[in-house]
Parts: sequence; structure tokens; C-alpha cells
Amino acid sequence: MSEPNLPGPDELQRRLQAFLQTAFQQPASPAPESAGGPEPVAGDTDDVFNFHLTPREIKAHLDRYVIKQDEAKKVLSIAVCDHYNHAKFLRERARRGETAPVEYAKQNVIVTGPTGVGKTYLVRHIAELIGVPFVKADATKFSETGYVGGDVEDLVRELVQKADGDTERAEHGIVYIDEVDKIATSGNMIGRDVSGRGVQTALLKLMEETEVPLRNPMDLAGQMQAVVELQRGSKPGRQAVNTRSILFIVSGAFPRLKEIVEKRRKQAQIGFAAPAGPAEDRAWQHGVTTADLIEYGMEAEFVGRLPVRVACEELTAADLRKILSESEGSVLRQYERAFLAFGIEAVFDDAALDRIAALAAEEGTGARGLLTVCERLLRDFKFELPGSGATSLRIDLDLIERPAERLAQLRSSGQDERLRVLRRSAEEFVERLGQPQGLSLKFAPEALDLLVAMAVNGQRPVRELCADLFKDYEFGLRLVKRPPAGRPLLLPREAVESPDKFLSDLVVRAYRGDPSDETPAGPAS
Ligand code: ADP
Repeated sequence: MSEPNLPGPDELQRRLQAFLQTAFQQPASPAPESAGGPEPVAGDTDDVFNFHLTPREIKAHLDRYVIKQDEAKKVLSIAVCDHYNHAKFLRERARRGETAPVEYAKQNVIVTGPTGVGKTYLVRHIAELIGVPFVKADATKFSETGYVGGDVEDLVRELVQKADGDTERAEHGIVYIDEVDKIATSGNMIGRDVSGRGVQTALLKLMEETEVPLRNPMDLAGQMQAVVELQRGSKPGRQAVNTRSILFIVSGAFPRLKEIVEKRRKQAQIGFAAPAGPAEDRAWQHGVTTADLIEYGMEAEFVGRLPVRVACEELTAADLRKILSESEGSVLRQYERAFLAFGIEAVFDDAALDRIAALAAEEGTGARGLLTVCERLLRDFKFELPGSGATSLRIDLDLIERPAERLAQLRSSGQDERLRVLRRSAEEFVERLGQPQGLSLKFAPEALDLLVAMAVNGQRPVRELCADLFKDYEFGLRLVKRPPAGRPLLLPREAVESPDKFLSDLVVRAYRGDPSDETPAGPAS
């Protein structure tokens, strides 16, 4: 008899998923004809529906964190105000029971600009300010996997997670998709870059309006859980999220865009005007047309869903310098906090900041370069200084130029400082030990040296070591001969080497009353 031909768990899962997909996956549901259908009315007081900000207020908030990018700040502030005022308006109409369709062109935004200049940072701060869930993804992620539609929809499901399961809040969240230039198709070459086109199509469906099922049809565990819940008799809740009121912001570096715009301009200018001079170098960004983006390889329908366009500018060394000292999100605060956690006060001086900004500009990764440079510069300090006794770190030009020497210096002065603290700790211990008897008790200098060395070598706190060595002294000191008035009782090195013997010798001498055998007393204090 042959063995039953059972597939392994991986194969089983694959087959089950294939089954679920063919049996239950709904085709992407067509959007309702208009945006005027009855609005879901939730009973909570959502931030979204209390939206009251003006574009100027949003920009003022962004100014606290984002340096430069004024145009992008303005454009985004306006788009966001329009979007959330419209959401509020729809909600109020729904409350009044009005259902007639309303004309509204959604303000999805495309932001162009190189990496690390604040595109994500802007959007994240806007979402935070308004209090809506925010999700970011790279468009390239979708083209790498086979199942584009489901992956793209995962973005919306992620919004629901970010909104703690509140679907209505998720329906007013912000989805930010970076690197959309990487899903451009190769211009007019038909039949190539299918994956890029596929991703664009899937995204544009979301940007327009669609219903995204709350559970990914490909998520086996999720589907199973749904079945179990149904069997248990739980009421099925909301099954889908509508993307009509989700604000989509896409971005990309579009490195070839300048070339395309300039080519078009040149063609238009032939016979009319002189070619653009360097003064117009940045102006091209403001003249990007739909046709330019299509020429770049974006689908016409995709570009069509992104009516608001703005460019973020490259950051110069001077801008990076300003980010360091003026942005509330400056990476310096992060470093100051990191050192402070170990009791080290880090201070950056102006010349060092100039140098860090200049080095970061050379990285060519926008403000991300600041983190790279600081990390490279301070990594060893972050590793070596904590626990070394150092309590301050001045980051100046000298430190940037001679990091190894500075580190060595700091380590040795840190060591001195640490030993000083340990000695003080031993002195305090012994002072307290004598107090109950009214004795002024002190360690001789050699005794202190030995104690500190023992604590460092044994990696024990001095106080704990002393408590251990001199545990019988509190009682024993009652029995020893008191030193002459005004003199301290000195504990010499032998007291540390063999504390019990030293104490019993003191006691014995006190009982013998041997005048030649004086209790060791320090100089009058
Ligand atoms: P991208 O433009 O690639 O989306 P990010 O917005 O993610 O770049 O920038 C990375 C980090 O650099 C941000 O988290 C922020 O700390 C800093 N940063 C970038 N641009 C700016 C800017 N214009 N002002 C202040 N900080 C910035």
C-alpha cells in the first residue's frame, strides 16, 4: 500500500491560500458613483471633525521643525485644510440627512525633491498636528512582490491599526508613498515595466475611491480567525474601509525630470528667447506639467489623481547648519539626551556645528547626512565615556580634528574624577561610622588608596566594600581608647588590610591601658 501523499505545512499553506484567493477574493470593488452617498456617522468627537486650523497655522507649526521648503509647506497646508474642511462639511451634511452628490476634486499631493530634504518629515508633522493616523511606504516595495493589489491595500489596513481599529479615523488618515518615481514605466516603450504600471494602477484605485476589505484575503491567519469568530456567533463588524477621504501624498526624487522640463522648454523657445540661464536653475521645478510627468513614465490616470504638485528644494550646507541649531527636531537634542542619560553634559560649539553641516552636505543625502556625520564623529565617545567618570563633553573643532587624542584625554581625566568620587565616598562612610560614638574617624591616605583600588579591582561600590570590611566597628569602637580631644582617630592601611585584627588590637590596648601603645591619632583638626 502506498503512503498517503500529504503535502508539507508550507505546501499546505500555499494551497489553502490559493484556494481562499480564488474562492473568496473580491475583485476590487467599483467606487460608488459620487462622493455624496450617505456618510457613516460615528458617535465620537474625532479630531478630524473638529478641524479648525488655517493654512497659516499649519505652516507656522511646520516652521518649528522644518527648515526651508516654504513652498511645500504652503502647498501642503492648503491641501490639508481643503481636505479636512471637506471631510467636516460632508460629515455635517450627513448629520442633517442630506445625501445629494457634491462635486469635489480630491487634493492628493505629489511632492518632488531629492532624498532627505524633509518630505516625509513635513507629512509626518502634519498628521501629528491634525491627529490623524499616518502610514508611509515605498512604492518599490509593491513591485517586488507578486500580489500588488493586496499589498497596496495593506497600507489602508495599516491605517486602521494605527487608528487602534477605529475605521472611521482610518478613513480620514494620511497615506504617504515615497519613491513613486521608481515605479515609472520606461516612457513610451510598450510592453515593458509591467510591474511599475501595475503598481500605479493599484495605487490610483486607492487614491480615487475604493472599498478595502479589513482582512487581507491572502492573510490566512486573519481569514481563519474571521471564520472562527463567525462560528462563535460574534457579530460581523465593519468589513471594509472606504478610501474616499484618505489623503494620499506621494513623492519621489524624479532625477530625470529636470532634463525633461528643460528639453520641452527649449523646444518651445526655439526662435523666441535665449536659453535659460543659471538664475533659472531652480525655476524649472515650478513649471513641471502633467505632460512632463507622463513623459517621465507615470501613467496619465495616476498623475491625474495628483492635482496638487510641489517641489522640495535641495538643502545647502547653510540650511543644514540651520537645521542643527534652529529645528526643534534637531539631531543635536538626540545626542545631548543620549549623553545625559549617562550623566554627561554634551555641548556643541558653533565652529563644530559649521563643520558638521559642511561634512553632512558632502554626503549628498540631505539632512540625513547630519545623523551620519554625528554618528561617525561621536560613536567612540558614546561607547567609551559612559561609566568613565567623565561628566562633560565639549564638541569643538579640536575634537572633530583630533578625536583619538581628545578621547584619551577625557578618559584619563574621567578616571581622575572617578577616583575622586570613590575616595569621597569612603571618607563619608567612615565619618558616619564614628558618629554614634562621637568619634572623629578618618582613613589615612594610604588606607584610602588601598580601599579605592580594592573597589575598582573587585568592581564593587566603595560603600558596600566598606560596610563589609568594617561591619564589627560600630560595636567595637565603643571599646577603644578615645584619641585626645580635637584629634581624629586614624585608620591606617593595616585597618583596611585586616580590619578585624586591627580592631581587636585597639580594644586590647585600651584594656591594658598601656600608655606606650597609643591609639593612632591623626593631627589635631
Ligand atoms: P525625505 O525628503 O527623503 O522624505 P525625510 O523627511 O525623511 O527625508 O528627512 C530625514 C530626516 O532629516 C528627518 O527626519 C529630519 O530629522 C531631517 N530633515 C530633513 N529635511 C529637513 C528640513 N528641511 N528641516 C529640518 N529637518 C529636516
